[in-house]
Amino acid sequence: MRYVILVVLSLYSLTISAQNIKIKTATSNTISQKPKLVVGIVVDQMRWDYVNKFKPFFKSDKGFLHFVNEGATCDNTLIPYVPTVTACGHTCVYTGSVPALHGIAGNNWYDNIKQKSVYCVEDPSVQAVGTTNSSAGQMSPLNVWTTTIGDELKLATNFKSKVIGVSLKDRGAIIPAGHAADAAYWYDTKSGNFISSSYYASILPAWLTNYNASKRVDSLYSQGWNLSLANSVYTENCDADENVYESTPFGKEAKHFPYDLKSFIGKDYSKITTTPQGNNLVMEVAKQALLNEKMGKDSITDLLAVSFSSPDYIGHSFGPNSWETLDGYIKLDEILADFFAFLDKQVGKDNYTVFLTADHAVANIPAYAKKHNLPGENYDDGAVRNDIIACLNANNLNPKLISFVGEYNVYFNHPLMDSLHISQESLVSIISNYLEKKPQVLQVVESRKAAIAALPQMTKEKIVNGYNVQRGGDLMLLTKSGVVDGYPTGTSHGVLYNYDAHIPFLLVGNGIKHIAVNTPTSMTDIAPTISTLLGIQMPSGSIGKPVLEVLK
Ligand SMILES: [Zn+2]
Repeated sequence: MRYVILVVLSLYSLTISAQNIKIKTATSNTISQKPKLVVGIVVDQMRWDYVNKFKPFFKSDKGFLHFVNEGATCDNTLIPYVPTVTACGHTCVYTGSVPALHGIAGNNWYDNIKQKSVYCVEDPSVQAVGTTNSSAGQMSPLNVWTTTIGDELKLATNFKSKVIGVSLKDRGAIIPAGHAADAAYWYDTKSGNFISSSYYASILPAWLTNYNASKRVDSLYSQGWNLSLANSVYTENCDADENVYESTPFGKEAKHFPYDLKSFIGKDYSKITTTPQGNNLVMEVAKQALLNEKMGKDSITDLLAVSFSSPDYIGHSFGPNSWETLDGYIKLDEILADFFAFLDKQVGKDNYTVFLTADHAVANIPAYAKKHNLPGENYDDGAVRNDIIACLNANNLNPKLISFVGEYNVYFNHPLMDSLHISQESLVSIISNYLEKKPQVLQVVESRKAAIAALPQMTKEKIVNGYNVQRGGDLMLLTKSGVVDGYPTGTSHGVLYNYDAHIPFLLVGNGIKHIAVNTPTSMTDIAPTISTLLGIQMPSGSIGKPVLEVLK
């Protein structure tokens, strides 16, 4: 007995001293190797092909090309789920997870338990901070079920890391910043202020109150939107400046460049979102946050999550082949080049790491595609809903049997089905048979049975990954390639095809090799790659793999 105890004790002490040695080496290595700051940049709606396509027109090789020339590019990064929309994209980037696990089933969904529609970051239990527009501020990451990169960074440093999110969109700031964030700031289109919620703090920091008081948006309006390069560049490389299939966000008469924005000064703070200057606003607030909150100043890694929403608004209105999109990226490239110079000065050249990706990409405007004999069609959720109601009427069924249609998810009204004794099987079959005769529809899949649908494995996986039992629809409508859930003008995104699902994934800075990775990578790989770089636990729901090729 004594012998056994002795052996156990000596084994125990051996383990302890071995652990001590490990910890010591780990600490001395880690501190010198870890970046002081990680900046995550999401460019809302950025297609993978934009860097290559717009490269000749960038004014600097220190913006987007800084990643290409000195960092790592993962050129075949795909989104592994549907719907490919903003909320799901930002959640996947920062959690490495998919809607089935992280809970963000769309920008909006229908809660099957509470029987009501929900906006991804709504939280009626918190109050707006920095605006009297209370509904714009009642937001938090409450609906995200898994941890984020920022949460794990906080856990790894005993909550000493600073984590802040900035975006025009509430969901673009809140979700990337995560549950344990110090702050998230987003833009209120009513007041023209960057605001927050009581989830983070009861008042805005003084630096942000001062920034808001400067009414920077008015001075950006006074500049208008003028082209960065000669008209001939856009004529030769884009669709026409004026098209009937483009939206007119600045008024019905403002159909082409230059856009005079002076009439919005002091009156309408929403228009700035659809201009390149929306990116200036976000960048300025992000820089102010970095300076005033002293991010990247000590050896404990901080995370600044920046999401540029304006490229999405511009893309929705004018499409990927427009003068507006090209010019927006030329101007965003200048903002990035300036930001890298700022980081070099404030944090130090080798002390930070930046990654850049997108929450989703985008389809061509259907009418533009048709003009070039490519597949293109509109079929929005409203039309889907009307078709289903027509189908139910034709079958003498109560149209209220459908409770919600959103992002091509069709939700059944289960209490009504029960009271009318209508089975799931019969409703699925009636609606599927009807919709599958529509020219825009590829297939209607019963969400719970997606794994056995007659579809390619990769396609089935996207549906399974995107289906959340509590928050997903009973049916998932798959449209044919080129069909857009949109508007009579402009375009959209949200489906499984590569024009929506192929995104950039670029990295540069501390710990990153200079390499072009062409082997397939997934959006879910981003969070584990950053976790590996930082030597922290990967987020709880992550299903991705670190892209080891990019790490030194
Ligand atoms: Zn969008």
